[in-house]
Amino acid sequence: MLPDWLAAVFAFVFGSLVGSFLNVVIHRLPRGESVVRPRSRCPGCRRPIRWYENVPILSWIVLRGRCRGCKARISLRYPLVELAGGLLALACLRQFGLAPWALCAFAFLAALLALTYIDLDHWLLPRVITIPFVVLGVAVSWIPGGPGLVGSVLGAAAGFASFVLIGAVAERILKKEAIGGGDVWLFAMIGAWLGLRALLPVALLASLQGAIAGIVLVAAARGEGRRTAAPPPKPTGDEELDAWEPPPGALPFGPFLSLGAAEFLFFGDALLDWYLGLFR
Ligand SMILES: [Zn+2]
Repeated sequence: MLPDWLAAVFAFVFGSLVGSFLNVVIHRLPRGESVVRPRSRCPGCRRPIRWYENVPILSWIVLRGRCRGCKARISLRYPLVELAGGLLALACLRQFGLAPWALCAFAFLAALLALTYIDLDHWLLPRVITIPFVVLGVAVSWIPGGPGLVGSVLGAAAGFASFVLIGAVAERILKKEAIGGGDVWLFAMIGAWLGLRALLPVALLASLQGAIAGIVLVAAARGEGRRTAAPPPKPTGDEELDAWEPPPGALPFGPFLSLGAAEFLFFGDALLDWYLGLFR
């Protein structure tokens, strides 16, 4: 067998390379561009980025966050997404061991990471990611460590139905669309990967942390003397991307659902044990 430290190094390098690919997905997919071709270029001077300038995390540090050609700043987000990819792969290895479910869990987390940044940038959860990942989640659910086929199918169906229902009720009360179409598919995806029993805890974790972040943001905006309005409805279709601008200080819900799902993946059993223990 592979020594533990070598497996950990492999996991981190693999995860950071996936993170590097996720940067491309986050940047190009919402713009309708291919994620495979052409090769990456500097957005400033169109200079092609060479392989040795594209080593995850290290290249950004060596280049001190600037393009070698035109010295344009390279966003700190690129190495951070690569670092997140590496750490998430390492966490999956630690939690699930050198097993097929570790790879599945990492694929799920990688998709959530891409969706988080796309939603932060564009208030959009592209269905070309969420819907295939609903199918994939059901397809791998029988693997040891997964939620099982029944839990997965019920989770996907209940996730979809509950958000459609909540959305419809909220729409009648608020007289406007309250939950974006993208959130519905993301919640179905989370149900498919984590099973029916995860839905309520994930929704609670997401709402709680979303509310806290919202309060912090509103307070920060007050400090700057800006007014923050309640978020307007999110666009429902992928095609409305350019026509809609989120107000300053508002946050999309997708990142918080993703965060809640990741927390449940690693701490769900401990969390449920603790919660059920309160009634014993
Ligand atoms: Zn450049």
